[in-house]
Amino acid sequence: MQTAIATVCLSGSLDEKLEAIAGAGFKGVEIFDTDLLSFSGTTADVRSMISDLGLSVVTFQPFRDFEGMPEPQRTRNFARAERKFDVMQQLGCDLLLVCSNVSPESLGGIDRAAADLHELGERAAKRGLRIGFEALAWGRHINDYRDAWEVVRRADHPAVGLILDTFHILARGTDLRAIRSIPRDRIFLVQVADAPRLEMDYLSWSRHFRCLPGQGELPLMDFMEALQATNFDGLLSLEIFNDQFRAGSARMVATDGQRSLIYMLDQLRQRTAIPIASIPELPSRPQCRGVEFIEFAIEEGTAPFFERLLSSLGFRKSGVHKSKSVTRWRQGGINLVVNTEKEGFAHSFNITHGTSVCAFGLKVDDAASALDRARALRDRPFRQPVGVGELEIPAVRGVGGSLIYFLDDKKPLADVWDIEFEPVADADAAGDAGLLAVDHISQSMHYEEMLSWLLFYTSLLDVTKTPGQDVIDPGGIVRSQVVQTGDGSLRIVLNASQSSRTLSSRFVEEFFGSGVQHIAFATRDIFATAAQLRSNGIQLLPIPENYYDDLEAKWDLPAEEIARLKANNILYDREGSAEYFQIYTPNFENTFFFEIVERRGGYAGFGAVNAPIRLAAQARFARPPEMPRR
Ligand code: MG
Ligand code: MG
Repeated sequence: MQTAIATVCLSGSLDEKLEAIAGAGFKGVEIFDTDLLSFSGTTADVRSMISDLGLSVVTFQPFRDFEGMPEPQRTRNFARAERKFDVMQQLGCDLLLVCSNVSPESLGGIDRAAADLHELGERAAKRGLRIGFEALAWGRHINDYRDAWEVVRRADHPAVGLILDTFHILARGTDLRAIRSIPRDRIFLVQVADAPRLEMDYLSWSRHFRCLPGQGELPLMDFMEALQATNFDGLLSLEIFNDQFRAGSARMVATDGQRSLIYMLDQLRQRTAIPIASIPELPSRPQCRGVEFIEFAIEEGTAPFFERLLSSLGFRKSGVHKSKSVTRWRQGGINLVVNTEKEGFAHSFNITHGTSVCAFGLKVDDAASALDRARALRDRPFRQPVGVGELEIPAVRGVGGSLIYFLDDKKPLADVWDIEFEPVADADAAGDAGLLAVDHISQSMHYEEMLSWLLFYTSLLDVTKTPGQDVIDPGGIVRSQVVQTGDGSLRIVLNASQSSRTLSSRFVEEFFGSGVQHIAFATRDIFATAAQLRSNGIQLLPIPENYYDDLEAKWDLPAEEIARLKANNILYDREGSAEYFQIYTPNFENTFFFEIVERRGGYAGFGAVNAPIRLAAQARFARPPEMPRR
């Protein structure tokens, strides 16, 4: 299959779009006529730009409201088509996309439409051009690919073929079986788009919410399997109308587009066991075994304050790096790394973002193959010079330029702590608070980036995504979506907001970019942990009394249980008989914070019902004391 992308997917002017498309490694492009009309140069300029970039125009689109028109519109339509043909010849493009008519004036009838397309095919063929016919989900008479195929079949012209668009087909839930019996040479183009499941009219859903394969919830793989049954090996093109993409960077969306196709075709190959020549075979998605470490980039002067916080959370310093200004802090199965180096990656990260999580290390089944997969997906591998006695740990760039390291149980990576660190005894250690593991990592990002990072995680790692959720912040709505492994060894919460006043957006602003906003640790006994933290001298985020009055009304909890929750500022949630307990530290340096959670009975969520309470409490707590209380 040859892959392509439509200019309509990207932001910017036509030249910017084309550069981004070529930069992402595409060879084919669908030109949207408005992009051409709004471009300041001539069509000849565009043609030479396209060939200079090593691209070819696979389609010119769209040609609307053509078939089934009464006179005089019918005659006018043919004249209009001839003008499009002129442009196509100037562009060096041989395929015109005709989408089914939505005009109230159009007349129904498969044969009438077939006759119109036959005549259009005759005219196109005279110029060496072709016509592709696509059923829009909201077409007036033709809105089902099976009817569009019948029109093409009856048009019976070699220059007239079918265009399949996954959105139009899957949004309507059309049966896919008929695709299998369409001769592959009659399918001139396949347009791919995913979308979240939404209850709205097809037109608005399509124009604003389409997304790249893997970012949404449509059964794209079922479609691809049906297509594969025809042995189709023609053009597969992304056609995505999305408000976030129009606001985002063209280069990011084009690269994501390439990544989404590589990932989708690799999944298809695994499902059908049929080789797909155009796409390299990927190593399988690495299995995550957990978060091996989290690394903080900290300025030397701030480090004592931060280490005091870690200490009172029950961590003890257990190692000092043999050659760098880096320490290791442990509790249960958790490793935190505090990096105060004055050069290198962590240092530059700290200069940009201040005190921050600059990296985390994932334990996977095979670190080298995880990096190979990342490369094949066009993720960005990371390397920096390795000092004496240091290991080269495979790493890839993640959210906001931070790093994800891959570790495994093979030597030498399995011995990284012994190889790089000198053990130390922490004389000042406070009491262990019973923290066992990293429960989840929460990242806040620019709204336009959210779909991009969702695709990054789901294509690279063996994780699934939950449906997106809206959380109410005192400053607006925060969009939240989780990627996680089946066993909970890795849970990453992605948050983004269009309002600049939410905590999530303020984090992105203060942090100068997207990054880790909070880390949640798991405990087996939240009450014991809370008591220990108190005696270690930590002030937990105060939760208002009203919250506990409401808890009493909502759940059938004994009064003494409520009193215990209240005394410890613990937030509570329940799903069936499964329970969830949460406590929070106040923000460190106005940016990130820690959370501690206990899951009982297999609770699978993240306490979304409590998020507004927590966000309001943080907003109150973060307000400087000199500001008047409203
Ligand atoms: Mg389409
Ligand atoms: Mg959380």
